[in-house]
Amino acid sequence: MQKLGLYIHIPFCERKCLYCDFLSFGGADASAREAYVRALIAEIASQGESYGGAFRVDSVFLGGGTPSLLSAEQLTRILSELSRRFSMTRDCETTMEANPGSLDARKLEAALSWGVNRLSLGAQSLSDELLRALGRVHARADFLATYEAARRAGFANINADLMFAFPGQTRADWRETLAEVMDLRPEHISFYSLQAEEGTPMGEALREGRLTATDEETDREMYRFALRALADAGYERYEISNAAKPGFRCRHNLKYWSMDAYLGLGLGAHSYVDGVRFSNVEGMDAYLAAARGDGAFRERTHVNSREDRISEYMFLGLRRADGVSEADYAREFGEDVRARFGKEIERLAGEGLLERRSGALRLTPRGIDVSNRVFVAFV
Ligand code: SF4
Repeated sequence: MQKLGLYIHIPFCERKCLYCDFLSFGGADASAREAYVRALIAEIASQGESYGGAFRVDSVFLGGGTPSLLSAEQLTRILSELSRRFSMTRDCETTMEANPGSLDARKLEAALSWGVNRLSLGAQSLSDELLRALGRVHARADFLATYEAARRAGFANINADLMFAFPGQTRADWRETLAEVMDLRPEHISFYSLQAEEGTPMGEALREGRLTATDEETDREMYRFALRALADAGYERYEISNAAKPGFRCRHNLKYWSMDAYLGLGLGAHSYVDGVRFSNVEGMDAYLAAARGDGAFRERTHVNSREDRISEYMFLGLRRADGVSEADYAREFGEDVRARFGKEIERLAGEGLLERRSGALRLTPRGIDVSNRVFVAFV
């Protein structure tokens, strides 16, 4: 049976962070959250009928938003509905994203008892001053306490999400945060250079000159520092912004970069199944109406052409440190990757952005710095 990843979107946050334009709402009240949970459970039931029999689920990712904002009872209902409607592999990787401070012992227990075996904590920084500047609701002490509580509860696979190169953060701040987080020995660390999106308060402050963006050189220095420090501490970088201890790469996220099948459930969630990309409605009213049978959950569908699949396979695959295996490409598309992209590969290799090693095409360190320029060559 084909394997499937499930993504479950929980679009609520205590309040919006100043840089965030994800599909999430700050300050929703308990009744709005409950109405959404009911609709989500209806969608799980309905998609379970379509996909539950044909696939085995080997990864689940509860993301958001802030899934840990739901009550233990709501999390239990969602997770139990998932296990009722879908068949899970015995070793299914089930991740829940959580904001420090929003998880208590009851929620940790409920999550563990329903098979959540990986926790992803949005730490971002360990400086209280910088957390305030980002508009995060949590403080450094919340992250440390939540991390500790998760370990005590029995979580043996924890990711810490970190951000670097945001306004006000110095190289020393970044070095300290990274060192302190690595001292805790989480199994996985994500490290993203912050892009404050247009229209967010931070994006506007940058546009109007009230905040100063980190310059490119400092951004890249911070990134390279992280690579060295993580490698020294035994983490393997397996994607541009993700590193893990051996055996702890995130199976679910690897599906996105490997074009494996995943089904997104919840508001605005995206899916890729059998070469078709589709996504759910982004309006809450439309989503709740779909759950009542008034309209559809799904909004947009795009059947990938062969050309689409080849482009995506290349630029998503190149995000992985393992790169794109030439043998895998030939198996997937029945052609030699160099027959199609020979000129581009030669040019990028000549510029020192791409290399061929052990039968795979990979970004060089310089290629990572300008990865978007490399990806465009394959589109
Ligand atoms: S917690 Fe995450 S999803 Fe929520 S507002 Fe902050 S960055 Fe956005």
